[in-house]
Amino acid sequence: MTQSTTTTSNVTNATSASVGRAITKSVRGMATSDGAGVKLTRLIGTPLLRRVDPFLMLDEFRSDEPQDYLAGFPDHPHRGFETFTYMLAGKFRHRDNKGHEGLLGAGGGQWMTAGRGIVHSEMPEQEEGLVWGFQLWINLPAAEKMTAAGYRDLQPEDIPIAELPGGATARVVAGRVANVVGPIEGKTTAPIFVEVGVPAGGEATIPVPRGHEGFVYAFEGNVRLGDIGKERVLTRGELAVLGDGEHVRLSSAGDAARALVIAGKPLNEPIAQHGPFVMNTTEQIQQAIRDFQNGEF
Ligand code: FE
Repeated sequence: MTQSTTTTSNVTNATSASVGRAITKSVRGMATSDGAGVKLTRLIGTPLLRRVDPFLMLDEFRSDEPQDYLAGFPDHPHRGFETFTYMLAGKFRHRDNKGHEGLLGAGGGQWMTAGRGIVHSEMPEQEEGLVWGFQLWINLPAAEKMTAAGYRDLQPEDIPIAELPGGATARVVAGRVANVVGPIEGKTTAPIFVEVGVPAGGEATIPVPRGHEGFVYAFEGNVRLGDIGKERVLTRGELAVLGDGEHVRLSSAGDAARALVIAGKPLNEPIAQHGPFVMNTTEQIQQAIRDFQNGEF
């Protein structure tokens, strides 16, 4: 049975009715390595951009040189936050001590809630070719840091695509764009994670509720950001932190481009971080280290 209703009355013209977000700061990432020696670019979690609350870290890994990625991320612990890994090219296998296992491929992702503790490995499942993807760390509120660990595998077909007026497309992992709702729902930080493809000459307006903190990362090609008359070009590899408003507008800077639009409700809570443990106090960090050493993850 089909339920077909007219949605005209629900359609709002975001660009005319709502306030567009502007860029408050833009940064490029810093080259670093992590795991057993995987080369990557850290975009959030550096002296240039410590955090965008509730986001603690964003890494981009992109290489077709096997020595940059073969070592992978062998067994390591996490506590107190969530991670989302999103793949554009290549394959990684996830295994954890809760019995989850998953193969991440191009266009897929994995949302992991470390909660009170998890030990996992993230290893490349290829010996040559391009590996390209992202890992985002999303903080958990104090009340949920010791929640049970969880894991959700997203295959490419699990991520719905919104076709937008203006010719752009949005792959919606989390949040809502043009009545398309992403599969990651029910989080206290109400995260938005959308991959936007802007064709040459096209544009896209992505709703980002007022009060969310957010950013845009141009990962392929250059894109214009901002409402009509207020645009600024983001070049490939540039991350723009957004000011407040109700949407972000992306438009073509010439050729086709792709960008991530990521936002969430800030937690405004104290952060105590020691590597892969992110808590609120030093005592909780010391407890995390003891619990991990005692095999309680
Ligand atoms: Fe990890």
